[in-house]
Amino acid sequence: MSEDWLSYFFAVAMILLLNYVINRLRARRYEKRVKNGQFTYCREPDLERTRKLFDMCRQRLESVGLTDLMLRDFAFQTQLTQAQCDNDAQAAAQLQSMLIEMLPHLHLLPNVKLLVTTDASKLQPGVLGEYDPGQRAVRILLQPGQRSPEVLSAALCHECLHCFLITYGITSPDPQLNEGLTEAMTCLVGFSQIMIRSNANRQLPYLIRAEFEELRKSLLAIRPKLQQQADQKRNLQAAREQLKKNISGASAMMEQAKALIAVKKAPQSRRLSAAELRQLQQTLLALENGSYTMTLRQAEQSLNGDLAAVRKADDAVLAICGSLYRLMLAF
Ligand SMILES: [Zn+2]
Repeated sequence: MSEDWLSYFFAVAMILLLNYVINRLRARRYEKRVKNGQFTYCREPDLERTRKLFDMCRQRLESVGLTDLMLRDFAFQTQLTQAQCDNDAQAAAQLQSMLIEMLPHLHLLPNVKLLVTTDASKLQPGVLGEYDPGQRAVRILLQPGQRSPEVLSAALCHECLHCFLITYGITSPDPQLNEGLTEAMTCLVGFSQIMIRSNANRQLPYLIRAEFEELRKSLLAIRPKLQQQADQKRNLQAAREQLKKNISGASAMMEQAKALIAVKKAPQSRRLSAAELRQLQQTLLALENGSYTMTLRQAEQSLNGDLAAVRKADDAVLAICGSLYRLMLAF
């Protein structure tokens, strides 16, 4: 018995020791990389925080009705090359056309200005870009070591997202959290690959590559469900439009039928069988006592219902149209 306990304690002690050694090695590896200047930033990925940011961004997009932005990656028509980045005028022109592409995608008005500068004193120290809500202007700094297509595209996306968050009132009062939200939001609205690519060269990113990858993974995981919801929404919208059209068509036919009844002309088509004649008389009766009108009113109320309710109402309306059509043919 005592030997069992001994080996149990030994195993636990070994696990704890191993865990300690692994952690020490990891810490030393990070320290070494920082010392060699391999990172301008240094920290381990905080995946828990990243997932919280993802959920916050998702909720905020849903709250402003822009869930559709999460459905696909954005592809720029404008291609930014290294040669263009090295030339001030060309870089400014290309960034401008990228901005023009991004604004409608983000449901923003095309009145956001772009100010490209090589003067670092025009921005806060250490930053590559800035958004000025007063002027509604995105400011991008062109400086040595940070002039690459990846870095400049990412800076533009980040600053544009500041404008997006402010416009839709989904910012956070805590500045640090707001930067995290802005950065994470770039991924959710379709720029995740740009952010992942940029991360190796970017100075002072709020999120690091592993975190951007985590955001993308979470996004890809929810996309099928979001797509399904979007399809359902679209189907419902289309069914409602159709029902609205059919109700107004039926109402017009109803008015015509009532006018015919008003002149008291009886059905007299020779081609009608006795059964058909009986059906027409019933239709007339229903029209006169208003039960069809009731059905149309009910159909109108069904416009607020779900897809099944809308389709059921549409079938009822089409049946009314059929009866009215046959009725009018008989006169
Ligand atoms: Zn920012």
